[in-house]
Amino acid sequence: MSEALDQFRHEVRDWLAQNFPKSLAGRGIEPFGGVEGEATIPEDASLWRDRLGDKGWGTPTWPAVYGGGGLSVGEAAVLSDEMHQVGAINPIPLLAGMGVTMVGPTILEYGTEEQKKKHLPGICSGKVRWCLGLSEPNAGSDLASLQTKAEDNGDRWVINGQKIWTSGANISQWCGALVRTDSSVAKRDGISFLLLPMDQPGVETRPIKLIAGASPFCETFFNDAEAEKTDLLGKHNDGWSVVKRLLQHERASQTGARPTSNKSAQPIQALAKAYCGSEPDGTLSDKDLRSRIVDHLMHTKAHGLTIARISAEAKGNPEVSAAASILKNSATRVSQDRAELLLEVMGHQGIGWDGDAFSEDELENVRGWLSGKAISIYGGSFEIQNNIIAKNILGLPETTQKG
Ligand SMILES: Cc1cc2nc3c(=O)[nH]c(=O)nc-3n(C[C@H](O)[C@H](O)[C@H](O)COP(=O)(O)OP(=O)(O)OC[C@H]3O[C@@H](n4cnc5c(N)ncnc54)[C@H](O)[C@@H]3O)c2cc1C
Repeated sequence: MSEALDQFRHEVRDWLAQNFPKSLAGRGIEPFGGVEGEATIPEDASLWRDRLGDKGWGTPTWPAVYGGGGLSVGEAAVLSDEMHQVGAINPIPLLAGMGVTMVGPTILEYGTEEQKKKHLPGICSGKVRWCLGLSEPNAGSDLASLQTKAEDNGDRWVINGQKIWTSGANISQWCGALVRTDSSVAKRDGISFLLLPMDQPGVETRPIKLIAGASPFCETFFNDAEAEKTDLLGKHNDGWSVVKRLLQHERASQTGARPTSNKSAQPIQALAKAYCGSEPDGTLSDKDLRSRIVDHLMHTKAHGLTIARISAEAKGNPEVSAAASILKNSATRVSQDRAELLLEVMGHQGIGWDGDAFSEDELENVRGWLSGKAISIYGGSFEIQNNIIAKNILGLPETTQKG
């Protein structure tokens, strides 16, 4: 490690010692989670959010002039490492909704100076939450068929239509929405990307309950909703280019194969022994289960190594590319296989919904297994990622319907 990075590590350690509330150590996202937004954040968590936001370290590599930390990729890695050492998490990507992972990076690339100054500091502070209004009842995988319309009334954009599956719409302050601005041209050529405030009379949200119990997403209705003329991101009728880039950022944020429950953070082989029994030599008694767990662990390792290889090839350049589709699909497979295996390992104990007969981890496991089904749908389904890989990476001919 270079001397400069070593010095930076000491700076980070001192800062964390003075600013990270010890009451939050090791508590993960729990104090920042919930579906009610700001109202549910306890005092120590909001203090940590504010201190991290003021320093810009919630979005460490974003330019300091817009509220980011202005750090190099190496410095950001040191920061992340030191936060891990003291049991601190960075809650800002969670609190900003789609702001840090998707809308912000797209504004950085396509936004005007005015848009960057207006929107990025709120995202960096973790106080302004963003949702994404892309999907519609008749436009999911075939997103370009969207019908929500934005009309220029001279002073403002006026938006009418309906979005669906809008994650966090009921607790977000802003929405990045894909809208039709010209119906007379080929469908991909008449779409624009608008930034609009959610807190206005023309916007209504209705939460949809998921099978795992929570209501993290909504139907969103625009009824003469309004957006500033200056809040068109990218060029008029060029929203398709903007959203293609945004979706690459979305996939890149979904490549880590996050555990779907607390329990899954423990080694699956240890859980299997505890639930299913082992031989005197320490091997798992059920040989078939054993070989499937080994298979899963090999896929997990290969996924991790592929992420490391792609990052090394990018030489620390955090640019996203079509490779995000490969990683999203392999992350999906690893996550869903793990959840299925855990369910099998736990047997009846793994499918309880409530009651004293089940431990907290067992109850969480079934919710993780159910909510994990969504991974192969959101951010573009498994099949759609395969289409992108076929066309953009393997160079195979287009066989799907063209817009
Ligand atoms: C938890 C969750 C959160 C979400 N959050 C958001 C959000 O915040 N904002 C937002 O805008 N959207 C969001 N979505 C919506 C998501 O992007 C869509 O569900 C997804 O793009 C699929 O669209 P659809 O549901 O209309 O399915 P459809 O497009 O109707 O697809 C149905 C099935 O057909 C397959 N299929 C469709 N077309 C093809 C093709 N050409 N080739 C091969 N197979 C095909 C699909 O793979 C799928 O299996 C979210 C979804 C989920 C589950």
